[in-house]
Amino acid sequence: MSFENLGLSGNTLKAVKRKGFKKPTDIQREVIPRLLNGEKDLIGQSQTGTGKTASFALPLIELIEEKNRHVQAIVLAPTRELAIQVADEINSLKGKKKLSVLPIYGGQPIGPQIRALERGVHIVVGTPGRVLDHIERGTLRLENIHYFILDEADRMLDMGFIDDIEEILRYTNENKRVLLFSATIPREILRLARRYLGEYEVIRT
Ligand code: AMP
Repeated sequence: MSFENLGLSGNTLKAVKRKGFKKPTDIQREVIPRLLNGEKDLIGQSQTGTGKTASFALPLIELIEEKNRHVQAIVLAPTRELAIQVADEINSLKGKKKLSVLPIYGGQPIGPQIRALERGVHIVVGTPGRVLDHIERGTLRLENIHYFILDEADRMLDMGFIDDIEEILRYTNENKRVLLFSATIPREILRLARRYLGEYEVIRT
C-alpha cells in the first residue's frame, strides 16, 4: 500500500514525497481514505509517533476550500508545543495550496492572534483555554466549521480540559465531522464520544 492509493491529490503527494515519507503508516492507511470518502465520525486509537498528525492533516489539506477564507477546521491539542507541532506538520504538507494555519495558545499576547484571525484563517490549532477565550471575545467563530479534531484527547481530559472542550463544542454546528485521537480510550472518552460524535467508527492501530 502506497500513498498513491489513498485518494490524495498530486499536490499533496508531492509534498509527502518532499517530506521524505516513503509509505503510509497504519493509522494513515485507515484514516486518510475514510476522512476523504466516508461520512462517519472517527475515533483513532493511536500512540504518538505513529503518524496520526498526517493522518488527519493530509485529508484536511484536500478538503479545505482555499478561496473560502473562514475557519473550516479546528484542532484542539493539550499543550502549546503540540499545537505548534501540529500546525508545522500541516504547513509542511500543504504543498502549493494556499492554506492559512494558525496556532493559538495561552502565555502569548492575544493581540497578534486576533489580528491573524481577522485576516482570515482556514485551520486553527489551539489549546482549549485560549480557544475559548477567543470565542468569548468574539474573535473566533466556529459556527461554520466542517471539521473538529481532538488530538491527544485522553491527555486533555487528564489536564482538566473537559469543561472547556464541552463549552467549545457548544459553539459549533451539528453538521461538522468530529475526529477524536487518543492513546487510550477510558470511559470518559466514550462518554464524550456518545454525547458529541455522530455515528462513529473506532480505528485501532
Ligand atoms: P506523529 O505521530 O504524528 O507525531 O508523527 C511522528 C513523526 O513521524 C513526525 O515527525 C512525522 O513527520 C513523521 N511521519 C508521519 N508519517 C510518516 C510516514 N508515513 N513516513 C515517515 N515518517 C512519518
